[in-house]
Amino acid sequence: MKNNNKYSLYGLPEKVQHCKKCLMTNQKPFSVNEMVHGKEIKKEGLIIHEDGLCSACHYADKKDIDIDWNAREKLLEELLDKHRSNDGSYDCVVPGSGGKDSGMASHILKYKYGMHPLTVTYSPLLYTNEGLKNMQNWINTGGFDNVLFTPNGRVSRILAKEAFDTILHPIQPFKFGLKVFPIKMAIQYNINLVFYGEPRSEYGSEDPKKLDKPGFGEEFYTVDKDYKDLYIAGLPIEELKDKHKLNDNDLSPYSAVKFDEIKDKNIVVDNLGWYLKWDPQSAYYYSVENCGFEPDTQRTDGTYGKYASIDDKFDPLHYFCHYIKFGIGRTRLDSSQEIRNGHIDREEALLLAKQFEGEFPERYFQDCIDYMGISKEYFWEKIDEFRSPHLWTYKDGNWILHQELEELKK
Ligand SMILES: [Zn+2]
Repeated sequence: MKNNNKYSLYGLPEKVQHCKKCLMTNQKPFSVNEMVHGKEIKKEGLIIHEDGLCSACHYADKKDIDIDWNAREKLLEELLDKHRSNDGSYDCVVPGSGGKDSGMASHILKYKYGMHPLTVTYSPLLYTNEGLKNMQNWINTGGFDNVLFTPNGRVSRILAKEAFDTILHPIQPFKFGLKVFPIKMAIQYNINLVFYGEPRSEYGSEDPKKLDKPGFGEEFYTVDKDYKDLYIAGLPIEELKDKHKLNDNDLSPYSAVKFDEIKDKNIVVDNLGWYLKWDPQSAYYYSVENCGFEPDTQRTDGTYGKYASIDDKFDPLHYFCHYIKFGIGRTRLDSSQEIRNGHIDREEALLLAKQFEGEFPERYFQDCIDYMGISKEYFWEKIDEFRSPHLWTYKDGNWILHQELEELKK
């Protein structure tokens, strides 16, 4: 690791603080525009307030008490009235993979609010069988037109490996492509409304200061006007191109939307979950009923559920990397969200975390390292490079999180 002299590798607080209500800590970084960030970025993250609660819990409390959901639905209706087409042509883009949230968002918009969504899908790196089936069910049972885009797999594999090496985030280039693709489709189809489902706040990855708005500003999917100092996979673009003999065309799926293309358009990118009270569990039941959504046949590695983010074989590995870098694994993310939504209490969450937090993602591990073209030995070498000393200690042949909650120390 280049910056090994620092105690905290990613600029996160050296002292881990735990939320009193959920299981999150102050190590959870907020989402960023990946294109303007290299590996040396100082991350900002979830805040633990003076009352001992994290900002995500604060927002969840507010969701129950302060928000006037009737007023928000009215705002939604006004927005939709402004955009709804009279001739049945597409009037909104709904990005998704046929998971529970995109299923519910597209279905409600079409069948409850009379919109004409074009659903768009940016292919996962490695489709699971369940993911592919759910994608088809979404289209065939839910009843939607869909555009599926699959970027050049050879380039995707190179970028996954680079992002794993540089920032221990193999799906980071994919995530950026996923984010900008719907906007590009909106431009191409001349549609000025893009609707996501789940609100951004559910997993604590968004700065709560931004949650008073229903959606994303341009800064989320565009870059500075002069397009300098841009990164993909944590590397400067020119370096990446030289190293792998890639050209601009190869990298275009991973490139931000240009200002010129949107400046006269006023494209609105919103989350339906800001206007309507959203709960991941209810979205699941809704999509089972209306879009033929099926949960996985087995529990997802690293957590206790079997219906969230099950379409990409890389997802469990991604969450494992997140656990290594920030000490926050998928069980912690899932159970904290469920505490906030009132489905489980803290005691139950602790039991689940004791059992599954940090579990190694065995099921698709071989597929993922084959995709990146690396060996097991190489994988573990890299993993250990990214264990920040402020979180991890090597003791008696094991790595332990030394600032972990007493209840979860293994
Ligand atoms: Zn919390």
